[in-house]
Amino acid sequence: MKFTPDKPAIYGETLDSLTARLTEAGQPAFRTRQILDWLYKKRVRTWAEMTNLSRELRAWLEANFDLEPTAFVLDRQSNDETDKLLLELRDKSLIETVIIRAPMLGVGIDKSRKTICISTQVGCAMGCKFCASGLAGLKRNLTAGEIVHQLIQVCRQEDALTPRAHAELASFDNIVVMGMGEPLHNYDAVLRALTIVNAEWGLGFGARRITLSTSGLVPRILQLADESLGLRLAISLHGATDEVREQIMPVNKRYPLAELLPAVRAFSEKHGRMVTLEFILIEEINDSLDQAEKLRDIARDLHAHVNLIPYNTVEGLPWKRPSITRQERFADVLRAARVPVTLRREKGHDIAAACGQLRLKTEKAREEATANP
Ligand code: SAH
Ligand code: SF4
Repeated sequence: MKFTPDKPAIYGETLDSLTARLTEAGQPAFRTRQILDWLYKKRVRTWAEMTNLSRELRAWLEANFDLEPTAFVLDRQSNDETDKLLLELRDKSLIETVIIRAPMLGVGIDKSRKTICISTQVGCAMGCKFCASGLAGLKRNLTAGEIVHQLIQVCRQEDALTPRAHAELASFDNIVVMGMGEPLHNYDAVLRALTIVNAEWGLGFGARRITLSTSGLVPRILQLADESLGLRLAISLHGATDEVREQIMPVNKRYPLAELLPAVRAFSEKHGRMVTLEFILIEEINDSLDQAEKLRDIARDLHAHVNLIPYNTVEGLPWKRPSITRQERFADVLRAARVPVTLRREKGHDIAAACGQLRLKTEKAREEATANP
């Protein structure tokens, strides 16, 4: 399951770790900043373009690091609001990175907002019953470099759209860690990657504009609360009682609500930030008024924002999205109690939901192509 590439991706190195490697190789420390500048500010695709480095240093870098850990396979503009990039890793695994040109997570209603949704694993081990990413289990963790490189690919994508060369990552409003995988199940690589994304010598993207979504790994939520990186947190709740939650999320057996909710409170108290509770509405599973009332109480208690997401149908799975009337009825229970709630209705907005589906389709097509060449 562990992936050991021939050469580590250079995008997984920090200022300190890269300086240490260079020093070992007898290079002066000031070279690190020059290299990071080529990677994150200029976003070059070849070592040869790093023209202020000696030929010898470039050869050393090439021998020791991978400069392109992900390769662009396909750009699927699912509608005018979302753009899905399918990326292939060195071991031929596929991941998705999504650009959403619309508001997310109730952070605003401005249509010009741009959000990037990144993946953290190939597949997922958590086995949520409704989710395309978890259908085939976990294939492997992404490395920190593979996580960071998704954002480099997004920047390049934007560069191609805008005549102005080198659109900065800063032109995006938010990054959400809501693609394929459970980020807290790949804790070290995710934290390292987000530190690089945030660092001034890296992509310089504010931690407060990064939201990490988790299915609820309690010890890791507590660990995250202690990190100095001030990320925002979203919890995939999807059930307001153990009975309902456990039906669709096996992780609830390990970490039931009585453990999860205090951990969420600890996080939000430490960071002084509202946490988001995500709640997918699935017909006849969790869309009753009783669930709405219990969710209202939990949200009030935690001072949390609630994000209601009408379920996005997954091929091969039986679940359905409730009617709009039922969705509104559910949301009204929360609104009546003045709980801040967002109900996403337009198709393009449930992109995090659709994350994992493009990869699944492409893998199926590949299998068929191998079976019937
Ligand atoms: N593993 C993390 C982050 C990735 S999933 C987590 O579970 O939080 C991102 C979000 O998409 C989660 O809230 C997840 O429950 C939701 N999701 C997954 N499949 C979905 C679907 N078919 N329809 C709607 N939301 C879905
Ligand atoms: Fe994994 Fe999240 Fe999908 Fe659950 S919802 S299977 S945790 S990606």
